[in-house]
This record gives sequence, structure tokens and C-alpha cells, in this order.
Amino acid sequence: MTDPQEYSRRASAWLEANARDLPRDAGLAASRAFMARLHDAGYSGITWPAEYGGQGLTAAEERAFQQAARGFALPIGVFGIGLGMCGPTLLSIGTEEHKRRYIEPLLRGEEIWCQMFSEPGAGSDVASLQTRAVRDGDAWVVNGQKVWTSVARQADLGLLIARTDVDLPKHRGITMFIIDMHDPGVTVRPLRDMTGESHFNEVFFDDVRVPADRIVGEVNEGWSAAVTTLLHERVSIGTGAARTERPASFAALAAAARGRGLLADPAVRDLLVDLYLRERAFDLFNARLSQEIKAGIQPGARGSVAKLLLSDLTLAGADAATEILGPETVAYDDDGTIAAALSWAPGMALGGGTSEIMRNIIGDRVLGLPREPQVDRAIPFRDLKVGTQAEEAGR
Ligand SMILES: Cc1cc2nc3c(=O)[nH]c(=O)nc-3n(C[C@H](O)[C@H](O)[C@H](O)COP(=O)(O)OP(=O)(O)OC[C@H]3O[C@@H](n4cnc5c(N)ncnc54)[C@H](O)[C@@H]3O)c2cc1C
Repeated sequence: MTDPQEYSRRASAWLEANARDLPRDAGLAASRAFMARLHDAGYSGITWPAEYGGQGLTAAEERAFQQAARGFALPIGVFGIGLGMCGPTLLSIGTEEHKRRYIEPLLRGEEIWCQMFSEPGAGSDVASLQTRAVRDGDAWVVNGQKVWTSVARQADLGLLIARTDVDLPKHRGITMFIIDMHDPGVTVRPLRDMTGESHFNEVFFDDVRVPADRIVGEVNEGWSAAVTTLLHERVSIGTGAARTERPASFAALAAAARGRGLLADPAVRDLLVDLYLRERAFDLFNARLSQEIKAGIQPGARGSVAKLLLSDLTLAGADAATEILGPETVAYDDDGTIAAALSWAPGMALGGGTSEIMRNIIGDRVLGLPREPQVDRAIPFRDLKVGTQAEEAGR
């Protein structure tokens, strides 16, 4: 490890020279150019293996960079799914060829990734998915629909899970594929959400041919591949948010309450103390996860604790903001941050798995409580009444 203080000083100087006053929404071309500069400077993929384009450094350098980056709004959100989920999945279970082909372009911002798991009839119970992939010579032919796919409109590539064997039980006949989003037969339709923007999309597959060498993991073993991605997702959502400024934070709302002469109001103090305690619990839990990752201990299902704490904290921040700012919360403030954060808050408790599902996972896999009964675990998928199969069965 290099001297952390020296590393952090150099990172701060680089950020000051290259990232100060960048617009939060810089546009796609500017975001890609920024990622390339970040990579050239040695700050993209800090802990990723050097042979695939990473910097091959340790979690200590990563943390030093993240500390230096606090207070900067880096325009790299569109790469979040690639960096937080798809890339780590390929590094864990991709082939050597996948790593050589896909990792460096991701780290340089040349290719944007999305993750295509959820379907209209398969969200929390994503193993009920119905998108099909059928073998045809040296390729697989994909048909079906995904929904809520973040950044699909901007994406060049995506990880897809599709059903490859309907005779196996629902968790076992699934395979993970790398999809080229520009291939014929892939159609992306944006969905407008309540922030007024289109963060997520529907994706349709009509006879999309996917070469067999784009399978990630093994045929029919896509469920464990998907679990790998989801574990990375929850850690990445939790720890990623730990590094970003929260507009409806304790500090911001306490200042707003003081400015409005509300600090003596016991109800307001109660809200603020509750928010402070949640922030401390979240920050300390994440500090602990980071230390453990640094020591080589993988968080596993405890990533769900970080995700749940963050969802609850975000919703508590939104409630407190509404109480303290009153009608002002519905008007966009100067840079729109409070109002945008409020309308984004409920999505935090859904995306990456809902809070109820996080509680199930924590009960089951962190606390060792009895599992939820699952009567359909051993039944061939074709016999299950899920999604459109349920409608067909009811006819
Ligand atoms: C901001 C955002 C971004 C997203 N991005 C992506 C993406 O990039 N890729 C992707 O594939 N998906 C994405 N999603 C989809 C997300 O993963 C799903 O919304 C989520 O898994 C829930 O599925 P659902 O919406 O079908 O709800 P459902 O599964 O239908 O759930 C409805 C309600 O029932 C509850 N429920 C369901 N099952 C149980 C149970 N067993 N026990 C207790 N309660 C239960 C849920 O908690 C929820 O309150 C995104 C969603 C959001 C909000």
C-alpha cells in the first residue's frame, strides 16, 4: 500500500483540477470522457485486477480516494450498475475471455451496462421469470420481456437471466447471458417515473440471437450467478450511498430547522434525533463492512442489512424533510436536490430488492431463523402457475 495520506492528497489535487464544478447531469458524452480521464489518472477500478485494466491496489487506496471524492458530484452514475454489479459478477464467475473483453472498456466508460432480471410477473420472486432462451446451433435465441431496467436506454451491454429449461424446478433452469443491447430484436422503451425522468425501462426481446460464449457461469446455473450479482448489488447500493452526500440529511435538515426557528419544537427535535441515530447506525455499519472487506471477509447476505438501513434512512429523511420544510418540499429548491430526493425515496425501498425481502434474507441467512415455506421449490417450472402461465391455467 502506498502512503494513504499521500495517495489521498494526490487524489484530492486531481479531483480539484478535473472534477470541481462539473454539472451533476453532465450528459452521456461528457460522462464517458470523464470516466476515461479517471481511468488514465489511475482512479477507476482501484482494487480491480491490473491484468484486466484495473489498478491492482488495495481497499485502503479505494477508501482514500472515496474520502477525497466526498463533496464532489462525479458524473459517473450511469456506470453504477456496470461498476457495482455486472463487472464484479464477470470478475467472480466470467470466463477469462469475458474479463479480457469487457472489464477495461467498462472501467474506461466506453461501455455502459444494465441488469435485466425483473419481469412484469417476476420481481421479488425473480426465479419465476418467463423470458426464454432456446439453443439453436452455436447460439441461443431469446424471447420475452424485462421491466424496471435502470439505464437500459443508455446501455451498450447487459446481464440477462432467462429460462433455459422449463422441466427443471424454477431456481434450476435459468441461465445468465451477456446481451449486446444494440443487437437486432432488442427494443428498449423508457418508463416515466415520479421524479419526472425515465430512470428505468421496459426491454423486449424478439428472437435475439446470443452466441453461446456469452453465457456467464454454467447453463441452467443462472440462479447462483444472479445471486452473485444481487449480493454485489446490495453491498454496492449500501456502501455506495455511504459515500455520497444525502440532500435530506440530518445536517441539512437541522440547519433548515434552525433557519425557521423550529429547533425548540419537541416534535422536530424528535425527528432530527431519530434521523441522526439512523445515519450513525448506517455509517458505522458501512465502516465495519469496509473494514471487513479490507481484511478479506466477504459481507455475503449482510449486504442486505446495509441496503435495508439505507432504505429506512432515506424514507425517514424524506418524512423529516416534509415535516420541517412543509409545502416548500414540493417546490424545487435552487438545484432541485430536496424535491428530487423526496420523489426518489420510495424507489430506494424497492430497487435492489424490497425492504420486506431484505428482512426475509436477514432473518433467513444472517440470523439463521427458519426459512419461509416454499412449496414450489421442487416442482418443474412448466407446472407452476406463475406469470402468464397462471393466466393460461385459469382459462
Ligand atoms: C429505482 C428502481 C430501480 C430498479 N432497477 C432495476 C434494474 O436495473 N434491473 C432489474 O432487473 N430490476 C430493477 N428494479 C426492479 C426491482 O428489483 C423490483 O421492483 C423489486 O424486486 C420488487 O419487485 P416488484 O416490483 O415486481 O414487486 P413485487 O415482487 O410484486 O412486490 C409487491 C409487494 O409485495 C411484497 N412482497 C413480495 N414478496 C414478498 C414476500 N415473500 N414476503 C414479504 N413481502 C413480499 C414486496 O415487498 C412489495 O411490497 C428496479 C426497481 C426500482 C424501484
